[in-house]
Amino acid sequence: MNKERVLSGMQSSGKLHLGNLVGALRNWVRLQDQYDCFYFVADWHSLTTGYADTSGIKESTKDLLINFLAAGLDPEKCTIFIQSRILEHAELHLLLSMITPLGWLERVPTYKEKQQELKEKDLATYGFLGYPLLQTADIIIYRAKYVPVGIDQVPHLEISREIARRFNNIYKEIFPEPEALLTEFPKVVGVDGRKMSKSYDNAIYLSDEPKTVEQKIRTMVTDPARVKKTDKGDPELSPVYQLHKIFSSKEEQEEVAGGCRTAGIGCIDCKKILIKNVFKVMEPIWTKRNELRNSPDLLNDVADRGTAKAKKVAEETMRLVREAMGLY
Ligand code: SF4
Repeated sequence: MNKERVLSGMQSSGKLHLGNLVGALRNWVRLQDQYDCFYFVADWHSLTTGYADTSGIKESTKDLLINFLAAGLDPEKCTIFIQSRILEHAELHLLLSMITPLGWLERVPTYKEKQQELKEKDLATYGFLGYPLLQTADIIIYRAKYVPVGIDQVPHLEISREIARRFNNIYKEIFPEPEALLTEFPKVVGVDGRKMSKSYDNAIYLSDEPKTVEQKIRTMVTDPARVKKTDKGDPELSPVYQLHKIFSSKEEQEEVAGGCRTAGIGCIDCKKILIKNVFKVMEPIWTKRNELRNSPDLLNDVADRGTAKAKKVAEETMRLVREAMGLY
């Protein structure tokens, strides 16, 4: 029986952190057993905001591939590829740009929000405005049925559905409207208690050395009420406990929460338990990352095979698209 296709990508614009691992990659790994998963490194997407300095893109692309594999993606079960190596994405992007009303792109909420957020960059470019269009091309070129997203990203998928529908109405029914594959992503906080994010400089990276991870957790913010070990605290106010909820066992969570409330455990010991559990998750990733960093041939082989497989599907879709549009 043919499995339904799932499509998802990640921008190659810097290192991945624990939030990316728990929020997306682990889910990708689960999905590869149930669906025909296509996962890609979105290196063109990183140009939409980072076009002025492209010096790190190649290295980031390689690092992302390493993280995909280190986190457990299996190239025998899913298709892993690099966006910029499949030029058909650009062709479809161009053709879709002919039929997409400007207003649809301008009203995407992240368009204005991100421009505000990244004020230091000049984002008054077509590439930035057209980001959702490229994203749509990425998805529908594989005629994917599902895109794994969190509930807050569902509206972002709507524009892809609208564009697919518009193409189908004008020319021919070629594209299925991609559906959200809803996933509950646990919210991962950073070492300062805000959402873990590169831009807040509060992240624990998959590429961090064990010593760095230990140091980051040791110096994490705790419940401010616990100045001395004898002060009682509220674990719910402590970012450390938020991470325990993700990385520690139920028993350990109860132990530290109870100990925090009764001042039966000190923050140093509480963090030691968290360090042990975060290490448990990261150690296999570190080992795999080290192996892969020294195996450029293996990485190239994974990228080549995945890209060739994806390209075949993209070529077939573009053949249908050109035909439907009456192109040569
Ligand atoms: S005991 Fe643990 S949960 Fe409580 S404040 Fe200290 S670090 Fe946070």
